[in-house]
Amino acid sequence: MQIETAHSPNHDERREEIDMLVLHYTGMEDGESALAHMCNPEAKVSAHYMIWEDGRITRLVDEGRRAWHAGVASWQGDCDLNSRSIGIEIVNGGHNVPLDDGSPPPYAEAQIHALILLSKRTISRYGIPQTRIVGHSDIAPDRKDDPGEHFPWARLAAEGIGLYPEADEDADGTSVLPGDRGMLVDSLQRSLIAIGYGLEATGEFDEATAHAVNAFQRRFLPQRLGRHGDALTLAHIAKVQAAFSGVSSGSSTSSG
Ligand SMILES: [Zn+2]
Repeated sequence: MQIETAHSPNHDERREEIDMLVLHYTGMEDGESALAHMCNPEAKVSAHYMIWEDGRITRLVDEGRRAWHAGVASWQGDCDLNSRSIGIEIVNGGHNVPLDDGSPPPYAEAQIHALILLSKRTISRYGIPQTRIVGHSDIAPDRKDDPGEHFPWARLAAEGIGLYPEADEDADGTSVLPGDRGMLVDSLQRSLIAIGYGLEATGEFDEATAHAVNAFQRRFLPQRLGRHGDALTLAHIAKVQAAFSGVSSGSSTSSG
């Protein structure tokens, strides 16, 4: 794995040990624009690595430093995620630079191959738990959509990078919608919180819950994105929660 170097000034001192991997798309016209943006001191954003469409990897910030990629975020009760994570930006226009039909452009094969190598190295180097490999939208569901519903999470999981329980075809049962209240909403919220999403168990399908459900679908059930708490989404949230709780924290030995 060959790594080129660029220098972003946008970093400071870590305050925690590294125990997370956060994946992003750049959401810009091309890699050159994204790199220039992350190297601009006025932008105040960066990442440790950026992966180009052709699989080249550029390091912008030393791993020992705190790169500025997560912003206001939370996961499994932690908040200063920049201090705890390695951040990887993958060059992809995403929702900001869609194809003619409005869909986000697919990730390039060489790029995903490079991402798999870099992620494996990072996970083993820091012993990152499987439940702490996340997308930006997981940790900031009210603000972020990246790396997007088109990101190949299942393929990464097959390589031991993150958990991705297989979804059932369909499910019977009650659905919940924004504005609903009650036990079912409360249990949905508690499951999302147990997975890691930052929200409160209010018993009401409020805006924060809607954002978290969307983020969950984007990551684990893209075919149901925007379908609120339909029966399959509720069933799959429970399934993912079970998978997450079956992984002992501090271990990175799961096969995913
Ligand atoms: Zn991002």
